[in-house]
Amino acid sequence: MSVEGEAKSVKCLLCSRDAVSELCRYHLQGKESLETAYPHWVKAYGILGWKDYLDRVKRNVQTGQWAKETAEMLAGR
Ligand SMILES: [Zn+2]
Repeated sequence: MSVEGEAKSVKCLLCSRDAVSELCRYHLQGKESLETAYPHWVKAYGILGWKDYLDRVKRNVQTGQWAKETAEMLAGR
């Protein structure tokens, strides 16, 4: 984990943009779309774990760059 509070503006964990919380608004939006899409994937695939889902998303060519980077971060946690 990175040290928090050493600078006034918090940087996104995935890029150098200013973060809204721990992510910039682009990566945050990517995270939100990942979380929104997950139930649909579970419906489509049957049982699908969160990590498996993230793995599939990462390898999906249709996944946007922001979501892909976010998925990579979430999968590594
Ligand atoms: Zn970012």
